[in-house]
Amino acid sequence: MIELSHVNKVYSEGNRAVKDLSLTIDDGEIAFIVGRSGSGKSTLLKLLLKELEPTSGRIVVNDMDLGKMPRRYVPKYRRKLGVVFQDFRLLKDLTVFENVAFAQRVIGVPGRVIRDTVPEMLRLVGLSAKYKAYPAQLSGGEQQRVAIARALINRPEVLLADEPTGNLDSFNAHEIMHLLEEINQRGTTMIVVTHSHEMVQQMKKRVITMERGAVIQDEGGSR
Ligand code: ADP
Ligand code: MG
Repeated sequence: MIELSHVNKVYSEGNRAVKDLSLTIDDGEIAFIVGRSGSGKSTLLKLLLKELEPTSGRIVVNDMDLGKMPRRYVPKYRRKLGVVFQDFRLLKDLTVFENVAFAQRVIGVPGRVIRDTVPEMLRLVGLSAKYKAYPAQLSGGEQQRVAIARALINRPEVLLADEPTGNLDSFNAHEIMHLLEEINQRGTTMIVVTHSHEMVQQMKKRVITMERGAVIQDEGGSR
């Protein structure tokens, strides 16, 4: 479960990016966060990743109080989360296979395990045929599938996505949204940020709308 209570974030420049935000996301839930540019969506994800500290308020992710977490534990905490960005962030000199495998190599997963897990994950995201390709040889939608595979390869409890369809045409954007929904149905808790309300309207899931750092609407959830 993800719980934010009365979270505020004021940047040093005085920007109040998040204002008295309280939110609970249950295990296994998928929540879309929408709102125009500058409404605080990315700041919210950075707070959850502990890339930023809240100015006040409390954030608890799967029973871990981020405010009380020792600094040395933060890298381990981040590895429990999968993250997907708008700009894919793939390693351009590595193949599709190696981009996904990399996330396992850095935590010391043995090669014989990687040889099983990576093809399985590429199958899930529909990219089995492209395992030898380099990112530059892929479409945007395919690159995002690689990024999603990489984010999921270590079986995170939570997946955070910041405008994952922002660089895609509407066909690919819908495909990626449906892939995320499918992955959620397998049990991963998910927060997906998008500035496009239209994008999530037909998904019939929980949609949280932010405006100027605050939640102004929260509808469609199971609660
Ligand atoms: P969104 O992702 O919804 O577009 P952000 O969370 O990026 O919104 O930004 C929310 C507000 O905080 C905006 O006014 C933005 O200009 C400001 N902001 C974002 N990052 C920083 C930063 N590093 N320093 C100062 N202000 C920031
Ligand atoms: Mg943003």
